[in-house]
Amino acid sequence: MKYFYIKAFASRRIQAGEKLLLLEDFEDSYDIEDAPEGMIIFIADREHHFKGQAVIGRQNKGFAWVFSLNHEDLWSKELFRLYLEEAIEHRQLLFNDPTTTGFRLFNGEGDGIGGLSIDWYDHFIQINWYSRGAYKYKDWWIENLLESTINVEGIYETKRFDLDSTEEAICHVTGKKASQPIIIKERERNYAVYLGEDWMTGIFFDQREVRQFVQEQAQGMSVLNLFSYTGAFSIAAGLGGASKTTSVDVANRSFDLTKENLSINDLKTNNDWNEIRIMDVFDYIDYAKRTSKDFDMVICDPPSFARTKKYVFSAITDYLNLAIDLFRITKPGGLCILSTNHSNYTKEKFIEDMNEAGRLSGKKVQLIQSFGLPDDYPTSEDPSSAYLKVLVYYCAE
Ligand code: SAH
Repeated sequence: MKYFYIKAFASRRIQAGEKLLLLEDFEDSYDIEDAPEGMIIFIADREHHFKGQAVIGRQNKGFAWVFSLNHEDLWSKELFRLYLEEAIEHRQLLFNDPTTTGFRLFNGEGDGIGGLSIDWYDHFIQINWYSRGAYKYKDWWIENLLESTINVEGIYETKRFDLDSTEEAICHVTGKKASQPIIIKERERNYAVYLGEDWMTGIFFDQREVRQFVQEQAQGMSVLNLFSYTGAFSIAAGLGGASKTTSVDVANRSFDLTKENLSINDLKTNNDWNEIRIMDVFDYIDYAKRTSKDFDMVICDPPSFARTKKYVFSAITDYLNLAIDLFRITKPGGLCILSTNHSNYTKEKFIEDMNEAGRLSGKKVQLIQSFGLPDDYPTSEDPSSAYLKVLVYYCAE
């Protein structure tokens, strides 16, 4: 096994439970730069003390993942099986809950092995691969999934790394094909999910607890759902007894997807009850301000970065200004639910910015609750790993 040496601060991070290694963490980066994807390496500190084993997998940010802190673990199908079994065990409550049929089954480094995530859609599986290094071991994952105690009917995948021209980014891998859509249950909520068609399947499981909160609070409220995509939050609000929901998204596909989700939940699809607006959120906010429209609940769950024809939005630089407007269009006594999944936007900075937005809005706002990732999204100690931050503000006046 080949040894590579890492710098002292990287070694301390690994000791503390972080898993991600960057190229600059290595003492001689030129030595490791060309290491092939999927290669297993031993890492040691400058004094040649063994620190752990890692696998090369270049992705977004990161060069390799530590998967073990001891010599004995052998990178093998058997090791993956152990991690997968632990992950299944950790989600027993979800597997045993007949009212929740979709969730995250394996959350990469948080479940022991980085470079991939696996989602469960009612006996169908989608594997998301984030590096070619992780993808090299695909067969072991597929075999383990098919041999495991959970009954897998079919497997899909998305490849989120540089592909050559012969490779398909989103495809069916093995087993049965899912009906399009399959209907996923999340407590009383039904969601239509399309597997193998797009990067996003239509529902982000990490917001499950926030949707539940919305459902519990929404009775009698007028609810504005911004960056609404498939209307997942609007469904929660509608089922919770909202007097009206308004879903706003710039993408045309949102219209049919939201309508479909309303229908499969027996919610009305006309504009008086559940309005769907295909337009830019920033234009909608201007319209709401111009016409003095306000809402009892405003939900805002934007992407970290977005560019539309007219606007560019980057959460770190632009959320503060957006939130000023959101507080202004929230009725006295209402709730403003602000979410970001930007991993470099820390919770502290997000809270600081949103509090500042509250002050600048001229409203009296109070942070009353916050949400992070649910239990099926375990994280490593890497700072970027707990990416989801959701803040609930009460707007007093
Ligand atoms: N909140 C959603 C997920 C949002 S995904 C949920 O609960 O599932 C991000 C969405 O933002 C995409 O559907 C995209 O079309 C939309 N979007 C990005 N920029 C936008 C803009 N400026 N105005 C309206 N929608 C936008």
